[in-house]
Amino acid sequence: MRPALSGDTKVAGVIGDPVRHSLSPALHNAGFAHLGLDWAYVAFEVPAGGGAGAVAAMRALGIDGLSVTMPLKAEVVEACDELSPAAAMLGAVNCVRRSGDRMIGENTDGVGFVNSLRRQAGVEFAGMHAVVLGGGGAARAVVAALVSEGASVTIVNRSMESAVRAAELGKAAAAAAGVGSSMSVMVGAPGAVRDADLVVNATPLGMNAADPMPVAPEMLRRGQMAVDLIYMPAVTPFLEVADEAGAQILNGTGMLLFQAAEQFKMWTGRDAPVKAMGAAVGLDIAG
Ligand code: NAP
Repeated sequence: MRPALSGDTKVAGVIGDPVRHSLSPALHNAGFAHLGLDWAYVAFEVPAGGGAGAVAAMRALGIDGLSVTMPLKAEVVEACDELSPAAAMLGAVNCVRRSGDRMIGENTDGVGFVNSLRRQAGVEFAGMHAVVLGGGGAARAVVAALVSEGASVTIVNRSMESAVRAAELGKAAAAAAGVGSSMSVMVGAPGAVRDADLVVNATPLGMNAADPMPVAPEMLRRGQMAVDLIYMPAVTPFLEVADEAGAQILNGTGMLLFQAAEQFKMWTGRDAPVKAMGAAVGLDIAG
């Protein structure tokens, strides 16, 4: 159990807007409670333009860790004293940790994604062909993580500009991981989905009931794995159609859990109790 709040309690939190619906407080507080750590995690509503002020407040108030969500991931980059290689490459920070007086910007989205697929579905990435739908911040993190794990990736996105940017980042990630010569990272058309082993929806399409599908249903098939980064609703139309087609499906709750687990370890120095944290958001994680 978590000790009672006191003058010694360490504080972490999430900044973003909207943030009141966030599952991060439930995840982290379950982890603190499971390990009996004197930490508390809260949500701070910080609108666009407030990222630098929030990092300054973290410094002034002695807050020990911040998760960073939409719309602040890019603007917080400038407010950090130092960036991890992943945050620098992606140009996006989803976590700030302290190192003495220095604020270090990190990005745990990519590792959260691969750990989710590995732990929840036993996925082996080397040699697999993935199609990532989308070219925004989450897509870039997923593309970089997939190529670093040895997958080939095709990016399919509405605008060519974002797709090309994501592909360039993927090539840089492949080179950094020492797999540059064997990997293929390209921009493709929706037809590429049919041949993919793994299809990832990294667009927001499916969050609202009126949204169109991110890909034509007939592209999805048995033998594929379909992953949606969205976790609310738990089953998007994309996952529903993929399931009907016989594909294996997974939503974004696991990515949320495993990116949080990395942050938990950075702040507390303790391995995150992912089983207890997962249970707090309805996930049954083995081990
Ligand atoms: P983002 O940076 O705004 O990127 C959104 C991408 O989706 C862009 O490539 C955009 O295309 C495309 N898109 C948006 N609306 C579209 C539409 N109507 N039709 C076709 N394409 C459209 O957002 P993000 O941060 O990458 O987030 C994407 C999704 O991932 C969100 O649902 C978010 O909640 C989820 N996410 C989940 C986790 C997790 O832990 N599970 C973590 C991060 C993000 P253009 O480039 O053409 O604009």
